Parts: sequence; structure tokens; C-alpha cells
Amino acid sequence: MVKNVVVIVIDCLRLDYSNEIWDVLSKYGFYKMDFAVTTAPWTIPAHASMLTGLYPSEHGAHESKNRKVGKIEFKIKDNLVNDLKRRGYTTYLFIANAFLTERFGFGDFDHIYFNSNVPDRLFLKPDELRYLTEETLTKSPLGVLISILKKRKLKLLFKGCAVFAYRKLSSFVGGWPKEKGISKIIKKIRKTNFKEPFFIFMNIMELHEPYRSNNVRAEYEAQLRYLKRKFEKLMEVLNDKGILDNSLVIVTSDHGQLLGERGRGGHGVFLDDELIKVPFFIKIPNGKITKFDGYISHANLRRFVIKFVDDRVDVSLLFSKVAFAESFGSFSSKIVDPKFERHKVAVFYKGCKGIYDVESHRFEEIGCPELKEELELVVKEFLRRTKQKRRMIEENSLKEKIRKLKRSGKI
Ligand SMILES: [Zn+2]
Repeated sequence: MVKNVVVIVIDCLRLDYSNEIWDVLSKYGFYKMDFAVTTAPWTIPAHASMLTGLYPSEHGAHESKNRKVGKIEFKIKDNLVNDLKRRGYTTYLFIANAFLTERFGFGDFDHIYFNSNVPDRLFLKPDELRYLTEETLTKSPLGVLISILKKRKLKLLFKGCAVFAYRKLSSFVGGWPKEKGISKIIKKIRKTNFKEPFFIFMNIMELHEPYRSNNVRAEYEAQLRYLKRKFEKLMEVLNDKGILDNSLVIVTSDHGQLLGERGRGGHGVFLDDELIKVPFFIKIPNGKITKFDGYISHANLRRFVIKFVDDRVDVSLLFSKVAFAESFGSFSSKIVDPKFERHKVAVFYKGCKGIYDVESHRFEEIGCPELKEELELVVKEFLRRTKQKRRMIEENSLKEKIRKLKRSGKI
């Protein structure tokens, strides 16, 4: 039997809004798990964990006080994509999220299709678009302007202004920002002749900002209705191609989205349930799913997929007695609030959740105070283990660099 693997990440899909997606998936024999715990409240560290089985503290692709987007890169080559390539898989990445491009370290896939449906493509060549995407993700508008002027890219400055005006005046042309790439992903999938065995990884962006108005909840709900129609189409295409029948398929999200709860919006800083408890739907070829005690962590995805590919379905591998999520502050250099720039760990254990502030050594939130001491021990053990693992990864990477330099005769 060919063991294909498909992972679909619906960026920003909240657990409590995921029934719309379940409506579609339930028709195709998926199983709905209660929830999964993502490892981080934003795209890069969360995806890096899915692919490596490591927590952000271990894989290192996360923000810190001095490291913001632009300097955050996924660098671990010991990952699921390479595991599967070594086993003869052809690997496909379909994305509309700029954070998952080669620039941010996700270039190990054999085939990468990136299309965000931003109208900029009308004006900009691909290399110009890449340059401006990076600049706008990492700098303030003034910073982008200064950088363009310093590099004397005057033509690009005019084009950038045209893009800005175009976005402001005609954001409805081409459907953007309502349509953020899913239609072109569906078209591309329909046309692709997938070479078996394959690993398809997708990131769908329709629920992500930007929205058309400041009424974020109404916008999110409208986007969800739009996404549902498109997601039905996507499932139809995958079904018509026979992919749903002969693959392990997982549908989840990398994090949720805050829609004004506790005065908070967006994602990336906090470890609220709306952000880190995410939906998890699964379909296995000719098989049934059993639920186990504990928590599904995205950090367990890699070992589960590898076991499936090498041997059999073992759902217990998705579960752990304890699951964690980590945040280190804001990932964006544009929205720095010093009071949030701290390493925090959310822990799920024995039906209880706590959020531990690593710098002040105390829980800022705890679901069941009677378990406080036990939870503190669990978090401290996590911090010790992840620190040790990170040190090992850094040492190995240094040794590898030295080996390369020796091989090339430079030292
Ligand atoms: Zn994301």
C-alpha cells in the first residue's frame, strides 16, 4: 500500500470556530479529535515544531527581545520533509503565507507553490515582490522607505507607492483581502500530477489578517463563511484525485486568533486558549481512530507520521501526558511593548492549564491552584530538558560548520 501524507494547516482557525470546517470534513470520513495544543501562537515556531517534533526553545525559530521577524529563521535540517525525502517521497508545499517561504527556512520541499493573491504582482517582478515582502515584514513604513532610498532603488519606490495606492483604493479587485490565495492553490493542486509516495503540506490564509474593517469578529466570521465554500472545493478536488482515499490526512491550524477577548486581538504574543488550543481532524486509509488519554501536541506530529510511513498507524503517538506552548514576546519589530517581552510557557497537565512566566518564576495564570507545585515541577523539567536539547543542537551545528570548513580546505 502506498502511504501518502497530507497536512493541511488553516492559519488562524480557532477551535471554537472549527465546526464550519468539520461540516465539510465529516462527509469524507474524517475523525474529530477534541483539540490539539500548538507549540506557539504564531506561524514560524508553530510550523517548525510540526516539522521537527521540537518545542520552540529547542528548534530556536522563535522571537526574543532582540530577535524579531527578519532574523527569525527555521534552520533545522533534521525534519519531517527530509525524513520523507530520504524514504523516497516527493514533497510538495502549497502556501499563501510569506513566513513559510524559502526565505524563512522552509525550502526543503521538492516543489514549492507560493501565491498570496496580493495584487502587488500586477506591478512587481517576483524578485521585487520578495524584497518588498521581507522589508515590510521586518520594518516600519518609514524604515522601508529609508532602506529603499539608501539602496537607490527609485524605480521600486515608485512601484511600491503604486502598490500602496492600489491596495488602498481597490482592495476588492481580485477579491483581496477576502481571497488570500486558496483559489489558486486549488487550481494548482487540480493541475498537479502528484508523484507517489507524496507528502503534501498546505497553509491556507483566508482567516488571517488583513481584514477589511476593524470589526474583527464580524470580519473573521465572514472570512470563515468564504473559506468554507472554498474548502469544500478543495476537498472535492482532493477526493476526485483519489488523494483522500489513499493518504493519511491531517487538518489542523497553527494557532487561533484573538477577536477582542480580554481586550486582545491578533496572535503572536499571548498564550490564551483561543490561540493555542487548536482543532485537529484526521483521516487514515482504511482505519479507525481511537482516542487516548492526554493531549495531542503538534510536537508529536513528526513521530506519528514517521511511524505510519515505516510501519503502522499508532494514534497513541499523537498524545502526551503533558503539552506545552511557548511565547517570547512579540515577533514583530513594529509592535514592541516591553511588558510583554518575556518568555512564557503554557502547560496542560491533568486537565489543568497554567501559564508560567519564566523570568519572574511564577504562574501568571493557573487553572487549578491545588496542582500548583506539581505543575511547577513539570514546567521546570521542561525548561531544563529544552535548554539541554538546544545546547546539543547548537554544538552539533557548530561541529558541522567546522567539518564543512575543513572539507573545503578553509581551515
Ligand atoms: Zn499562522
